[in-house]
Amino acid sequence: MELSSSLLSPRRPTRRITLGGVPIGDGAPVSVQSMTTTKTADVDGTLAQIYALAAAGADIVRCTCNEEAAAEGLAHIVPRSPVPIVADIHFHHEMALAALEAGVQGLRLNPGNLRKEAEIKQVAAEARDRGVPIRIGVNAGSLHPDLYKKYGGATPEALVESAQHELALFEEVGFSDVKISVKASSVALMIAAYRLASEAFDHPLHLGVTEAGPPPGGLIKGTAGIGTLLAEGIGDTIRYSLTADPVEEARAGRQLLESLGLRERKGLDLIACPSCGRAQVDVIAVAKEAQHALEQLNLPIQVAVMGCVVNGPGEAREADLGIAAGKQKGHLFIRGKIVRVVPEAEMVRALVDEAERLVAEGVEARMAAADAEAEAEAEADRRALLETTGADPNHTAEKIEIIRRHAEEEAGPVAGVEAGDEAED
Ligand code: SF4
Repeated sequence: MELSSSLLSPRRPTRRITLGGVPIGDGAPVSVQSMTTTKTADVDGTLAQIYALAAAGADIVRCTCNEEAAAEGLAHIVPRSPVPIVADIHFHHEMALAALEAGVQGLRLNPGNLRKEAEIKQVAAEARDRGVPIRIGVNAGSLHPDLYKKYGGATPEALVESAQHELALFEEVGFSDVKISVKASSVALMIAAYRLASEAFDHPLHLGVTEAGPPPGGLIKGTAGIGTLLAEGIGDTIRYSLTADPVEEARAGRQLLESLGLRERKGLDLIACPSCGRAQVDVIAVAKEAQHALEQLNLPIQVAVMGCVVNGPGEAREADLGIAAGKQKGHLFIRGKIVRVVPEAEMVRALVDEAERLVAEGVEARMAAADAEAEAEAEADRRALLETTGADPNHTAEKIEIIRRHAEEEAGPVAGVEAGDEAED
């Protein structure tokens, strides 16, 4: 089916960057981003939110990295996240270095509050060596004071000049794997700034109206700004900034793209974990098989395929239905609750059967029909797997050790955040 986006202005040609496997720019599908609201050090809470965001349509998720504990959290989160993770950096360049050590697939730097040129170049050089793209995230509310003075305020020209200055520093160390944002809470200012940026740069643009507030006002502002630019062919990845559950941001982003014909409509929503050291099955093969079988049914259902029973049911508890592998078995779950355990060879068949019944009979009826022994059997398998694979199959402890060493080499561990140090866009 041809997308109705052919009725909009042609997409502006840009360079292509790739963020953890997600292509951005140069004709790639416009991607949806959101940001977690949990403390990044709360690994389980953050992962549960990331899974919920992915299920709601987020292609990329950003987490704040504002202190050493957050960087250590990222070392746990990144290998278990279903989508690429971007670390949000304000003030502290050493947090960018720590996030890179943790394995993040992208960084966001705010030129307004991370200002020492040597530090910026150090981060860019490290990102260059690791092949990790950076977003130059300019924000009207935290514009560099010199530019504020020069232009008499946060004008479109001032926002674009801030990005140009940062980009020039990156280029001094041979780094241009960059996307750019020039956000403002004023929709009119944001639109003018992005129009100017689209003439000044051929790098992909990340669109957003910052601090848009709670829905419905925040949704209207975001849609007015982002939708206007997308219709003009400007923008390669988007984020709604709502004062709400971030799942609403992801959903809104996805719906906007679908309504403009920039992304295909979804029937089945199959999510799958990316697999990691704990996986007990070839997740890619099982996910493909499940997708093929379920797509024939055309059911409006979210289904998760997870590599292990240790974390799978919990991480994907937002999904209607899922299967997690372990001990040559498939652990079938509905909204995170194990309802049946089947032999591994029957995983996909069981998933398809349950999907049909779930849609026909509803969640409550299928929960009531759960096998009474299933939870206990899954718990025993979970414990057995923990013993086999150990508590740290992703070598997270090693990464954390390196992060701590780096932190000690710097001016000592960063204790916390400065006033106004929270990610605002
Ligand atoms: Fe998460 Fe388990 Fe998949 Fe690893 S194998 S990403 S821990 S569900």
